[in-house]
Amino acid sequence: MSPLWRQIQRQTFTSVAALADFLELPPLLQKRLLVRARFPLRLPYRLAEKIEKKTLDDPLLRQFVPLMDEEMQNSGFCADPVQDQQFRKAKKLLHKYQGRALLLATSACAMHCRFCFRQHFPYETDEPSFTQELQYLSEDSSISEVILSGGDPLSLGDERLDALLSALAKIPHVRRIRFHTRFPIGIPERIDDSLIQILQKVDKQIYFVLHINHPREVDTGLFAFLRRLLQIGIPLLSQTVLLKGVNDDLEVLVELFESLVDGGIIPYYLHELDPVEGGAHFFVAKERERELVQALQARLPGYAVPRWVREEPGKAHKIILTEQ
Ligand SMILES: *Cc1c(COP(=O)(O)O)cnc(C)c1O
Ligand code: SF4
Repeated sequence: MSPLWRQIQRQTFTSVAALADFLELPPLLQKRLLVRARFPLRLPYRLAEKIEKKTLDDPLLRQFVPLMDEEMQNSGFCADPVQDQQFRKAKKLLHKYQGRALLLATSACAMHCRFCFRQHFPYETDEPSFTQELQYLSEDSSISEVILSGGDPLSLGDERLDALLSALAKIPHVRRIRFHTRFPIGIPERIDDSLIQILQKVDKQIYFVLHINHPREVDTGLFAFLRRLLQIGIPLLSQTVLLKGVNDDLEVLVELFESLVDGGIIPYYLHELDPVEGGAHFFVAKERERELVQALQARLPGYAVPRWVREEPGKAHKIILTEQ
């Protein structure tokens, strides 16, 4: 039998019409939905349940439901805004920053976020192994940290994840393994006994960076699952993308970061939106962002305020915008 999380994963909305019904959207609002989006709808039931009915002005809806706004043309927004392609060292490996390499462990995600900068990536589907990637990693002894990203690394089944982690653990110069994941926000049941066992076996320090944008994405149920990671010595960090109509509001951000630190998660990065094609309607003006970050610094303990950053092609690290 498949694990519980796989069964729960089947309760994911992929039809815009079915979701519109579920959200009881009146015909006038349904007209603003993008029925055949290039990047298809994918929304786990747990998140759909949190969306307010009968309106399009919901911060979760805006993040996950395709709207006509995506067709808005904007000259600065392109398919590969961070120019990742030039850092591809193997099919599924990006090596851009010193000491850290990012493995595109899978192209699958629990949910599809409308602002995602990877939505135009030419993913290889179902490549059965990471032979080339592991070879590159073992040959470059300057790499001390491997970041599992994607897509979402927790989309991998336990068997593949176990095999990948075991292979990484065998590379002597790799000291840390970092997960970049949003999966538990949609399907927290992914963090089950079997996953805990797999992670516990790994003889390297593991970190989790959770992608969370709005306080309504978290709840005590989710924190209970995440606490299992803390209990086995895995620190939890978070990253957030600043998005218009979702979290470009001081009270929303204060509540988000307070909830996160209450749940044992240290806010790590607050990303400026990558100018990806289809995401122009999420754009927040730079001055507004600065104002929000300054207000956050005055309101919250230092450790609850994430670093406000931007990804810039050709730079040796992410740019910390408060220093500019
Ligand atoms: C963001 C990113 C990293 C990790 O950067 P940190 O500042 O260490 O969090 C690594 N590789 C790529 C390609 C990235 O985009
Ligand atoms: S990679 Fe992350 S941000 Fe992009 S669609 Fe998947 S879960 Fe969302």
